[in-house]
Parts: sequence; C-alpha cells; structure tokens
Amino acid sequence: MPIDPSPRSVSVLIPLALPAPYDYEVPAGLIAEEGAYVIVPLGAQQMLGVVWGPGTGEVEAKRLKPVLEVLDAPPMPAALRRFVDWIAAYTLNPRGSVLRLALRAPGALEPQRMRTAYRLADARPARMTPARLRVVETASDGFARTARELAEEAGVSDGVVRGLIEAAALLPVDLPTEAPFPEPDIGARGKALSPEQSAAASVLRARVEAGRFATLLLDGVTGSGKTEVYFEAVAEALARGKQALILLPEIALTSQFLDRFEARFGCKPAEWHSELSQRERRRVWRGVAEGRARVVVGARSALFLPFSDLGLIVVDEEHEAAFKQEEGVIYHARDMAVVRASLGDFPIVLSSATPSLETVVNAQLGRYERVVLPERHGAAELPQIAAIDMREEPPERGRWLSPRLVSEIAEALGRGEQAMLFLNRRGYAPLTLCRTCGHRIECPQCSSWLVEHRFRRELVCHHCGYTAPVPRACPSCGAEEALVACGPGVERIAEEISERFPEARIAILSSDNLRGPQSHEEVFRAIEAREIDIIVGTQIVAKGHHFPWLTLVGVVDADLGLENGDLRAAERTFQLLQQVAGRAGRAERRGRVFLQTYMPEHGVMRALVSGNRDQFLDREAAARERLGHPPFGRLVGVVLSSENAAQAQKFAREMARAAPQAEGVSVLGPAPAPLAMLRGRTRLRFLVKSARNINVQAYMQAWLSALKVPGSVRIAVDVDPYSFL
Ligand code: ADP
Ligand code: ZN
Repeated sequence: MPIDPSPRSVSVLIPLALPAPYDYEVPAGLIAEEGAYVIVPLGAQQMLGVVWGPGTGEVEAKRLKPVLEVLDAPPMPAALRRFVDWIAAYTLNPRGSVLRLALRAPGALEPQRMRTAYRLADARPARMTPARLRVVETASDGFARTARELAEEAGVSDGVVRGLIEAAALLPVDLPTEAPFPEPDIGARGKALSPEQSAAASVLRARVEAGRFATLLLDGVTGSGKTEVYFEAVAEALARGKQALILLPEIALTSQFLDRFEARFGCKPAEWHSELSQRERRRVWRGVAEGRARVVVGARSALFLPFSDLGLIVVDEEHEAAFKQEEGVIYHARDMAVVRASLGDFPIVLSSATPSLETVVNAQLGRYERVVLPERHGAAELPQIAAIDMREEPPERGRWLSPRLVSEIAEALGRGEQAMLFLNRRGYAPLTLCRTCGHRIECPQCSSWLVEHRFRRELVCHHCGYTAPVPRACPSCGAEEALVACGPGVERIAEEISERFPEARIAILSSDNLRGPQSHEEVFRAIEAREIDIIVGTQIVAKGHHFPWLTLVGVVDADLGLENGDLRAAERTFQLLQQVAGRAGRAERRGRVFLQTYMPEHGVMRALVSGNRDQFLDREAAARERLGHPPFGRLVGVVLSSENAAQAQKFAREMARAAPQAEGVSVLGPAPAPLAMLRGRTRLRFLVKSARNINVQAYMQAWLSALKVPGSVRIAVDVDPYSFL
C-alpha cells in the first residue's frame, strides 16, 4: 500500500492575534507538508495560514474543517517557524501576530504573472517582405522579445509582427515579469586589506566556514574598515552556497552603501525596507524563499524573510536604537537576529564603533567573540574632540553658537573645507511661549509642546503629527505679538549660520526637509561634490556617510540627550556624539570636533574628549550592575492606556493588586507615563524588575492572564524596554 505522505489533520497558524494554531483536515488528494502556505476557512472567511505541525487532536476528527487549498510556494522553513514561536514566547505576543510579520509581501503566494515573448522559429515564412525581413533580422540574435518590442526595434507596424506569429515564424515563450537576481561575484576583488583587517576577516571567514552558531562583535572605530571586513564574511557565506543578510538601521540603507556592495560583488544586493513597492516586496520575498536572492540588505523586518538557506547575518551599527521595533510586536532586531542565528545554527556578526553595553558585557563574559580593528584605515586619523564650556564662553544673547565655534567654522571655510553643525532637534523652536501670560502651546492630544517649523509655518506635535498654523495671538490671553520661540532646532541654527556666513551654501538635513530617500541622496551628492559649505543636521547626518571634505563638526547642544533620565541616556549620548564626531576628517585632512556643553565634567563629555571609551563603558556597567539594571537584570515595561482617564486609573489599581508576589521580582508603578497623554489616550506605566535568572515571561503570563481588561483599555507589554516614555 502506498504511504500517505501527508497527515490527515494538520495544525495551521493564521496571521491574526491568535495564540495557537487550529486543526484542519487535509482532504484526500491534497498534500500539506509542514510549513506549507494554505487557505483555510475561519468562521465565514477564508484565510491564509501556515501548516505549523501535525494536528493536535483537540478537536474531534469528524468536526474538523478542511484545508481548502495548498499554495504553490516553497514551505516556510522550519527555522523561521521556530523563530516565530520563539519571539512570540519571549515578547509575550500571540504567535499569529508574529507570523504576520513573516507574511508582509502581498501577492508573493500567487503565481508569478508571465508575459508572452517571441523568439525566431527555425522555419522561415513562405512569403517574405522587407518589413518581415527586418523583424527576422532583429530576432535573429536569439533573445526573446514581446510583440511590441519587436515591432519597435525593427521599426515595423504591429501587424507585421502579428503576421509572423500567425505564420509560426515567431514562437511564443513565457517570460517572468520580474527582474531576476544577479549572482554576486565573490571573485570580484575586494580592496587589499591591511594586516589588521586581514586578521579580522580571517576570524570571520573561519566562523562562517565552521557553519555553527557563534556571535562575533566586530569592534572598530569609524573608518577602520568594518564594512570591508564583514564583506569578506559575506563572500565566504556565498562561496559555501549560503544566503547572507545584512541588517542596517533603516536610515543607513543608502545608495552609498549599495554602491559599496556593488563595488565589491559586482551587483546590487536585494533590498528590504519600508520604501519598497509592493511589487518589489513580492519579488524579494519570493526570491529569498526560492534561494534566488543570495544577499539581502535590509531593515529590521528582513529578519522575517523566508530564507531557504541562510548562513550569515551581519548587524551593522548594532548599538542603534532604531533596531527596536516599538509598535505592534515590540522586539529588538539585534537581539532577535542572534536568536535567528542560533536557531539556524550559523554565525552572526555585530558591527559597531560604539557597541552597546549589552553587547560589550556579553563579549566580556565570553558569550560573544570580540574582533577588534583599532585604527582608521590609511592616512585618516581619528578626529580631535574638545569641549566648549558654555558657562565660560557663552553665545551672544539670542544666539546659540559660542564665539569659538563660530571662528572655527570661519577658519574651516577659509581653508575650503566643510563644516557640520549637529543638533538632534527638528524644526525651528521646541517651545512657543506667551510673554504676557506665560502660556505654553501644547498639543491638544498629547502631553507635549508643539514644535515650531518655520519653513512650513506650522506648529507640529512630534509625537502624533498634529499640526496647526502658528497663531498671531496667544490662544490663552489673546495678547498680540506676544508669542516667543524658545530654544533652537536645526532651522534656527541654520538661520544663525546664514546671518553669520551670508556667502556660505547651507543645507539642512532633517527628516522634515527631506522627503524620501531620493532627496537625501541628492543632498548627500551635493555635499560630496562640494556644492555645500555648511551642513546643519539632526541624527540623519550621524550615520555611515563619508564626506571627504568635512573637517569640522560642531555639536550645538551636547547635553541634550542627557536630559531624559532613562537608564541608557549616558550610553546613547556617548554613542550618538561619537558617531557624529566620526563624520569629521575621514580622508587625509584631520577632523576637529567641538562639543558645546554646560557640563564638561560629565562622564560622557570626558570620555569623548579623552577617547577613553572602555573606561566609560566599565563605569556604566558597574553602575548598572549595582542597580540591577540590564544587562545584569531584566526589565519589562507595561503601558496601559485609555481614552477614558478614570478607567485607565481604575484598571491600573486593579492591575497593581493582581500582580503576583514572586521572589526576585518587583513591580514599580502604576505611575503616569512621562508622556502622560498620547493621541488623546491617558497613559500609565508599570515597570517590572527582576534578576537575570528569573523567567520573567512566566511571571508576566501569570499576571496578565489573571486580568479582565476592559474594552476601552489597551495594554502594551515591552520586554527589554528601550523607551521609557
Ligand atoms: P567603518 O565601516 O569601520 O566605518 P569603512 O569600511 O566604511 O569603515 O571604511 C572607511 C573608508 O576606508 C571607506 O571609504 C573604505 O572604502 C576605506 N577603506 C577601508 N579599508 C580599506 C582598504 N583596505 N583599502 C582601501 N580603502 C579602504
Ligand atoms: Zn500630539
């Protein structure tokens, strides 16, 4: 008797907020192997789902509904299915919600649309005309073309081509409508590596060759050649027939990066990010699943692509907060990438000039292997960093730049070099105040001030996007001409600069002024081409760009990031400013960096000026260990919100009473969140703290499952929180 290759019942996970897969019957004649994409009935609807395993038997066989259809696509690989389960358990999300992240390519499961093209048959038609002859000549190179293309290229009417098709002189072939993926050329010579770079590259290559799970920290100052080095690891993975994934923070996914990839491998990689068209998403998803796309360069959601044979992940700028997905399923893509590598049993490289404390501690404990690139490549030296004590050298009234910084800019411009001013604040002024009554203009839906954007002539809420025209009179007391803009944003710095240097060509780089990556690229090109003298920018300028003529960086307010007192404020400020400083002097000319600060004695400023990163990290680590903060202890943030403030508060008290008592776990709160109102919802926070060895997910599960959440209240659980707003 033939063996039935397909079980009679299967469990199918559906990409909805469902905790577990449901059982379905597999009708005779269908084969539904594990990982298969299927259509199943759910209530009155038909849903896409993925076969998660054999049926659980929870429902009587005769009451099972049937699988309706098995879609024509390679089954979801087991490693990805286990990854979905793992993330769901770790982040306390329904498995179906996590599965949804892996199905973000509409149309990818439908058969590819084909287009009909024609190639020349062996037989020539009996009747030849000069027009027909031209078509035959055009087609005689052997390439298939559509009827339209043939007519155009041969310079004949469509009718001539149609006649040849009818006479069977042209034969139809089906061609895919999508562009194929070029094969990266691993033989294409990379740059000749320095001895340090070669040593680092051979460690990476060896781990890829071993083909086992290992986490490597590639730790090297900006400009040391980390990219060149990890490209060698990618080449090794390709040589072994594996796919590779390079994860970048979305904003670092620039054409400059793709060009570098192309210079090394002779073609562009597949891209995966939020700006892709649906068509491109479909193409890449499918190409990855079928193993045709060999290298993907992508933002965090690329982790959920159905790689058929992934053999390496690189996380570049691994310290970046942008890897934390803060909405929906809240996860940290860097940490989850390590999990993905471990489930797939292959190596992962975390690359950074300013690695996160979490990663540094893991390296110190021997969990991660550290590979160091101590120097900038070639003649480039690290920039010199100095603090300007704003108490001693204050700006003039109503200005923001200290006289010393202004004269340094003048000198740089005099030498024909470029300067950059960094301020991590969009818009013109972060606060608008009434001089008469003291009223501050707030967002009507959030507990935050509206930020003035002078170019757009608007007040904008940076939390919810609410906008309003700048009023003429104070909305509270009605006084006219009494509103004043307080504090600077990049637009205001640009205004000061253009008054001081009227000849200088200035570019503002912030997410408001640049819509879409295209316009980013244009500005970056202009900078490279020295059509810009002074760049004023937010954190957009901090990442990965290489401007050979940029020698001076001024940080307008180095203390800004320290204001919010969260546990990583110092670490993040250090990383961001180090990264910004790294933009200066990346070629032969040495860079200089000035930090405007009111606290030059602060540990962050001292570490930046002295260049003693490791001492700074050691002190941070010691402080966190003392307080039981991550990575030495665990945190879970819980935010509950409601449009009904009283209900939110009432439920928060209930939640507090329901929190289980457990050794080693403490629950702080409820307290109003620092952003106490967002989009009209009142927000309250709990913070759960536990020792590292505690299964905090089990604790949370016990707590949350005991709750009866009112319909108006939403709960967001954030395991390993990075945002405490
Ligand atoms: P990182 O990623 O560490 O910041 P990059 O890989 O971007 O450093 O290298 C910095 C610059 O130095 C780039 O322009 C890169 O092309 C160049 N570079 C690095 N290594 C070499 C090398 N071995 N030969 C030539 N140029 C190199
Ligand atoms: Zn708002």
